[in-house]
Amino acid sequence: MDENRSSEPRPFWLAGRPATGDAEEAVTSPHDGRVVGVHSVPTDEQVEQAVAAADAVRARAAALPLHVRAEALAHVSRRLGERAEEIARLITAENGKPVFWARGEVARAVSTFRFAAEETRRFGGEVQRLDTEPAAEGRLAYISRVPYGPVLGITPFNFPLNLVAHKVAPAIAVGAPIVVKPAPATPLTALVLGEILAETALPEGMFSVLPVPNDRAGALVDDPRLPVVSFTGSGPVGFSIMDRVPRKHVTLELGGNAAAVVLADADIDRAAARIALFSNYQAGQSCIAVQRVIVEDAVADEFTGKLLDAVGALVTGDPGDDKTQVGPLVSQAAAERVEGWINEAVAAGARLLTGGTRDGAAIAPTVLTGVPADAKVCREEVFGPVMVVQRVASVDEAFAAVNDSRYGLQAGVFTRSLDIAFRANRELEVGGLIIGDVPSYRADQMPYGGVKESGVGREGLRSAMEDLTHEKVMVLTGL
Ligand code: NAD
Repeated sequence: MDENRSSEPRPFWLAGRPATGDAEEAVTSPHDGRVVGVHSVPTDEQVEQAVAAADAVRARAAALPLHVRAEALAHVSRRLGERAEEIARLITAENGKPVFWARGEVARAVSTFRFAAEETRRFGGEVQRLDTEPAAEGRLAYISRVPYGPVLGITPFNFPLNLVAHKVAPAIAVGAPIVVKPAPATPLTALVLGEILAETALPEGMFSVLPVPNDRAGALVDDPRLPVVSFTGSGPVGFSIMDRVPRKHVTLELGGNAAAVVLADADIDRAAARIALFSNYQAGQSCIAVQRVIVEDAVADEFTGKLLDAVGALVTGDPGDDKTQVGPLVSQAAAERVEGWINEAVAAGARLLTGGTRDGAAIAPTVLTGVPADAKVCREEVFGPVMVVQRVASVDEAFAAVNDSRYGLQAGVFTRSLDIAFRANRELEVGGLIIGDVPSYRADQMPYGGVKESGVGREGLRSAMEDLTHEKVMVLTGL
């Protein structure tokens, strides 16, 4: 795609229209370093115009008929479907994600917008009779949901389309204008989404996509005309935003070091295959990739053998190849960090069962065991194709190990027992629990988010729509 270098830079989206600034930025492939596209960068003045436009359309957006919102969302869903292969290839080019996974991401974004269109048609209010108390006889509460106002959506590099979709779709659904600030490593996909949004009948100012560098994002965060900040990304950045604007409505979807528990009654073949794949999908760059594998002693040897076979069978290499399952990380710097963490664990006494090597931005799928509990590969979020296998003697120990983390996004428990499933649901400190599978599962309509340092608030269409709105009560008297 080097030919893009000589063509015009991609415009960004200012109040629903294409615009160019006075600078441009090149985006490179993590796989081979080639330039895969160039985009224009908004000036400070253009950022100001985008925010002013969002503010100006705020009342009109909130009053937009539901059928107009739903039709716009359905249009985006259809167009993403029509342009699926092109967009998947773009995700692969800028992110390094194997095209197999990129196609899956586009399919999910198609669903995300479709779910939003469906939820929009159900978006309403509630009527509550208040005459449950004698003093409130003749009174009725009419409860509607009102958007807080224009949303600032800040998104990470690892799902350049679907996580932008999870900001944009619920905002449109509730009638809130949105300004998106995509990740600097992967802005091109968000700009294509802007192109599709611009085909809809949404009013001017309803959306902007502003690929500004991190050191200019603070102005957007601080701007009082954007009362909602919906952030997906790393904990340090997310919490610094929350500290910076404590009076704003801030939602944080952050990282984790997700655990998969394999109990003695599990289907070991399935557990090994699923864990091998979902520790390494997107080279481990998912907030719910399997990082910690907690296995009961009774099946640990059998499981580990099968796990290593399954990891050995993963197809690594060129992300543009249909068969590739594991590609590079987002940058060589990211891969060097992960390599450093593996080396640190090994120096502290961990046993490297497979992997541990780096080639440019790629890390070979890595399995470690006997890792000291304070090593970074256990305690921090690796965000690379690395898993740590830990043996435990009992279910008690397994659940204690899952909870021994400052994160709490999702966990997976491989068991056939319904009793253990409900016990896990009572005891595990996570926002989502997957029974019979890896933690790395998200259906886009379900509530999604973390506890502890994994986040504040929930996404998933209905949950996000609730999150972006407040309940307003009107009490009718004398009825
Ligand atoms: P990041 O925190 O580095 O960046 C996220 C976004 O914040 C980017 O758009 C970045 O440009 C922006 N940003 C950086 N500094 C900023 C500042 N000072 N002010 C405002 N914005 C700023 O995260 P990343 O490396 O892009 O993504 C990886 C992280 O995202 C991982 O921790 C991962 O677990 C997390 N993540 C969480 C979820 C979830 O739903 N919980 C999903 C995907 C990724």
